[in-house]
Amino acid sequence: GRRVLTGITTSGTPHLGNYVGAIRPAIDASRQDAVESFFFLADYHALIKCDDPQRVRRSRLEIAATWLACGLDADRVVFYRQSDIREIPELTWLLTCVTAKGLLNRAHAYKAAVDQNLAGGEDADAGVTAGLYMYPVLMAADILAFNAHRVPVGRDQIQHIEMARDIAQRFNHLHGAAYRAASGSDREPFVLPEAVIDESVATLPGLDGRKMSKSYDNTIPLFEGGVRHLRESIARIVTDSRAPGEPKNPDGSHLFAIYRAFASAGEAQALHAALTGGLAWGEAKRILFERVESEIAPMRERYDTLIARPDTLEDILRHGADKARAVAAPFVAHLRDAVGLSDFR
Ligand code: ATP
Repeated sequence: GRRVLTGITTSGTPHLGNYVGAIRPAIDASRQDAVESFFFLADYHALIKCDDPQRVRRSRLEIAATWLACGLDADRVVFYRQSDIREIPELTWLLTCVTAKGLLNRAHAYKAAVDQNLAGGEDADAGVTAGLYMYPVLMAADILAFNAHRVPVGRDQIQHIEMARDIAQRFNHLHGAAYRAASGSDREPFVLPEAVIDESVATLPGLDGRKMSKSYDNTIPLFEGGVRHLRESIARIVTDSRAPGEPKNPDGSHLFAIYRAFASAGEAQALHAALTGGLAWGEAKRILFERVESEIAPMRERYDTLIARPDTLEDILRHGADKARAVAAPFVAHLRDAVGLSDFR
């Protein structure tokens, strides 16, 4: 079967953007028979951006409960925490040793940090950790430990998937023959993963109009804070100052962009027409709230139950880690053999 892999960084509270851009499409796809889905909480990745243990701890719980509340079937898919899979840091090191430093110099996230430093007149690497620099290798290990074929990602992640392919190719070239001898298989160790970009999936703007993102504190939380917080957050979406009755431009509006991700084509057309015709922003916010609430209210009930049961979540994730390690452990053992780290016996 085809293996599909999806992760979410546990660096904050899941928001409408995560839901529309990752959770909803991934769960839909996992219901197809031909795919084998791997879902993980990217909690090692969280440490790159977040040095607040409370926040990481809480986020892991929230994101676990969110996936399950949104309909993830933990019996059908492999659902786990990255940090429970010992083979991932192990593989990260094997990959690090075949990764050109120059490749990592070109990674967008690192380059953006450097550019910002230079623009501010600082040292190029000021405040940049080796963790941020190594991010693409850790991500390659996430994918390659399971030989995932397809990785649904946003456009900003395409480069990282290309790097994972480069790293995999290099490893295959250097150690393929030894791997085949160690494993008795006639294949290359790594399948080259492909990025899957779903053009129909929107990138949601946040309250301030930048991309909605856990690290920008501009999000509309999916469940946390309950229905009241959802209503209040929607009320805070920035709109222009046109008064009720004045025609609005829906196509430049963050509110309308969010509405479109939840509404049918017909509903979107109707709100578009109403705004052009002068509908008040306050009224549009009410319509957006009703639409989002009707989709997520049943899930929020499940979320509230799950988040109050950390023991249940722990059991589910441990079971998921066992399933994930059943795939990764024998594979990484052959990879260790291939690079020369085999038993003396
Ligand atoms: P961080 O700020 O920590 O990077 P994030 O909220 O931007 O967090 P990630 O955890 O990096 O989100 O991404 C998880 C998934 O959610 C990815 O597939 C990403 O493409 C998707 N996603 C994140 N933000 C949005 C958004 N605003 N609109 C659509 N999809 C999004």
